[in-house]
Amino acid sequence: MHDLLLTQKIAEIRPEIDKIAELELADVPLSQLTTLRLGGQPLLTARCMSQAAAIKLVTLLDAHSVPLLVVGGGSNLVVADGDLDIVAVVLDFDAISINPGTGLLRAEAGAEWDDVVALSLDAGLGGIECLSGIPGSAGAVPVQNVGAYGAEISSVLTQVRILDRATGDVSWQPATSLELAYRYSNLKFTARAVVLAIELQLTLDGLSAPLRFGELARRLGATEPGERRPAGEVREKVLELRRGKGMVLDPEDHDTWSAGSFFTNPTVDNRVADYVRRVTGEDNMPCYPVAGTDQSKLSAAWLIERAGFPKGYPGKGRATLSTKHTLALTNRGEATTDDLVALARDVVAGVDDKFGVQLVPEPVWVGVEL
Ligand SMILES: Cc1cc2nc3c(=O)[nH]c(=O)nc-3n(C[C@H](O)[C@H](O)[C@H](O)COP(=O)(O)OP(=O)(O)OC[C@H]3O[C@@H](n4cnc5c(N)ncnc54)[C@H](O)[C@@H]3O)c2cc1C
Repeated sequence: MHDLLLTQKIAEIRPEIDKIAELELADVPLSQLTTLRLGGQPLLTARCMSQAAAIKLVTLLDAHSVPLLVVGGGSNLVVADGDLDIVAVVLDFDAISINPGTGLLRAEAGAEWDDVVALSLDAGLGGIECLSGIPGSAGAVPVQNVGAYGAEISSVLTQVRILDRATGDVSWQPATSLELAYRYSNLKFTARAVVLAIELQLTLDGLSAPLRFGELARRLGATEPGERRPAGEVREKVLELRRGKGMVLDPEDHDTWSAGSFFTNPTVDNRVADYVRRVTGEDNMPCYPVAGTDQSKLSAAWLIERAGFPKGYPGKGRATLSTKHTLALTNRGEATTDDLVALARDVVAGVDDKFGVQLVPEPVWVGVEL
């Protein structure tokens, strides 16, 4: 059951909501808006077809203290089953403009991220090819500083146009204001702001960013660290690698009914890394020293596998590890969020028991906790 007071509040402000142009209301469960196909029924789902509509709606809901969830592609969300006391605000404005002369690209929040990447390459620009195939919207890429294959959006993001939810101000803010870090910004896990658009500075020579990811560089025949390759070639190779890992959305493939990597790669003290090495007896375990510290980054996927959770680990059945990648928790079609959370708890406890390493989930959790 939805909270009665909130239901009444929505009814009271409904006439004002109805006056907002370019807004569509629907009765859609979150399971239809998330790539895990999980999540219950919000108070209301509102699809904003313009920045103005999003600004008006979010400002109105905030003024009446109605909790809301901004939803892009729903590819980094774990949402509780059942009735949810939130309004789902879907951003559906998606203009993309590119200046091939300067390499500046602007995309509205609702643009599909991979379309942005493809169009940038069509315009002869480079810099985001390694981020090909990441599901979701342009507006969400700053939220967790998306990254893949040795690249992060922080290296090309110049500005974000945001609605500051505390002040109601709408302005372009420098990317530095977001405190971007590994799978983090100060927008993640907060109600601080809505990203309305992003701006990227891309390169003009049609070459990729320097290749930093070993497997990708090898597949492209690169021999020197930091080599660059034609950006289109890199995109194709990235998509091929991602498909092999179930990391490109495909409705027919349950391995992609996921939130991508479910856990971040943990940073641990070097003595913990040594302990893991000793326990597994694997001298060549993936382990990346963090410069200037006594810490190293380990691979969450590797730890999960070595803790006894192989690819396809069935858990209790309806939510399983992907058959292609141990880091993706997947819905095999009939799962509930409770099933998925039970599997996540199993994996976290298993890795902790075996190695004393606490895995931290990467997606945003709504109405449910680990
Ligand atoms: C198969 C698969 C592969 C993936 N691979 C990668 C990968 O390689 N690298 C990586 O970093 N991620 C990856 N992800 C995770 C996910 O795709 C990214 O985090 C993506 O940027 C999320 O975008 P979204 O629009 O789906 O966000 P959503 O899931 O809709 O939202 C995620 C969070 O961002 C907030 N949010 C969304 N839009 C806005 C906005 N405009 N303003 C403010 N807040 C907003 C939401 O409220 C929520 O808190 C993968 C996911 C899947 C399913």
